Amino acid sequence: MNFMDKFKSGVKEAGNKAKIVVEVNRLKMQNSSKQGEIDKHWQEIGRMVYEAETSAGSAGMNPELSARWAPLIDRVNVLKEEIQANLLEIRLLTNEKDCPKCGYKAAADTQFCVQCGSGFGG
Ligand SMILES: [Zn+2]
Repeated sequence: MNFMDKFKSGVKEAGNKAKIVVEVNRLKMQNSSKQGEIDKHWQEIGRMVYEAETSAGSAGMNPELSARWAPLIDRVNVLKEEIQANLLEIRLLTNEKDCPKCGYKAAADTQFCVQCGSGFGG
């Protein structure tokens, strides 16, 4: 490989790395917004449970109220799956993963977090 070829190859590699950084940041922002939506649903679920438990004449949970928060629970589950899918894509793009407990970055094949000792569970 002559100098020009090496130079071109280096430029291409840098371009790919920049694209990966942009893509990873996009996925992380997506996950942050999904997590924000989950947090809103947690609040709403909490409020509904509170209402169910405190409404006059109610002996706690009733089916009518359960039906109201069921769609939120379903949506939270979908968002959680989407977050996991994005994390997997980030992991494939960067060949590293974040510790679920402390967020420490580790190589994709690491079994335990060196920061907090938490297991990655595969
Ligand atoms: Zn950790």
